[in-house]
Amino acid sequence: MSLVASNLAGVRARIVDAALRSGRAADSVRVVLVTKTVEPDRVREAIAAGARDLGENKVQEGRRKADALSDEPVRWSMIGHLQSNKVKDALRFASEVQSLDRLSLATALEKRLQFLGRGLDVLVQVNTSGEASKFGLAPEDVPAFLKELAGFHALRPKGFMTLATFTPDEHEVRRCFQSLRDIRDRALHEAPQGEHLTQLSMGMSGDFEWAVEEGATIVRVGQAVFGPRALPNSHYWPGAAGAS
Ligand SMILES: *Cc1c(COP(=O)(O)O)cnc(C)c1O
Repeated sequence: MSLVASNLAGVRARIVDAALRSGRAADSVRVVLVTKTVEPDRVREAIAAGARDLGENKVQEGRRKADALSDEPVRWSMIGHLQSNKVKDALRFASEVQSLDRLSLATALEKRLQFLGRGLDVLVQVNTSGEASKFGLAPEDVPAFLKELAGFHALRPKGFMTLATFTPDEHEVRRCFQSLRDIRDRALHEAPQGEHLTQLSMGMSGDFEWAVEEGATIVRVGQAVFGPRALPNSHYWPGAAGAS
C-alpha cells in the first residue's frame, strides 16, 4: 500500500472513531480530499485508494489538475476564495462551490449557470473565527443572505462552511465549529431553503476529529493524507506562478 493510501485509511478510521464517539453513524461524514500543491500522480494514488471527492482552493490550479485527471471518476469542489471574474473557469471543473461568501459572487455564478443551463450545489462560507484575514459572512449576516439567495434558482444551497481560528486552543477551535452548527440549526428552521441546509463543512488536517464531534458532515483534509505542504502557496505547475 502507498503511503498516501495508508494515510487516507488512517484519516478515515479516525473519522469513524470520532463519529461513533459522538453517537453518529460511521458513514455520516464526507471527506473532501484537498489536493492543492499536490501533483496529479500523487493524487492518483489517493484515487486508487478510493478518494472520489477532491477539493482545490485556486481556480487555475484546479482547472489544470482536473484536466490532468479527467480520466478519473472524481468530482471537484471549489473550497477557496473565488473572484467573480473567475466564475467561468471555476465552473469548468467544479461541481460544488463551498466558498460562497457574498452576493456579488452569487450573482456572477447564477448568471453563468443560467447560460450553461445547469445548477450548482453551494455552501455559504461563514467567518466564525472573526479573524480579519478570513473570508466568509459575519454570522449575523447569514439570515439576510439566505433570504437573498432564495431568488437565485440555479444555486442550490446545501449548508455552511467555515475555517476555525488557527490556534492549538481546542476550546477556541470548537467554539468556531459550534457557532457554525448553531447557524445551521437556526437556518434549518427559519431560512426559506429550510430543510435543505443540512451540511456542515468544517475541520481540516489539524482539527477534523473535533469538527466531527461537533457535527461536521464534510471535512476538508489535505496534509494528513499527502504530508506537509512546504510553502503555503508553492506552485508545482510550470508557468503557474501567480495563479489564483
Ligand atoms: C488547504 C485547505 C484545507 C485543508 O488543509 P489541510 O491542512 O491540508 O488539511 C481545507 N480547507 C481549505 C479552505 C483549504 O484551503
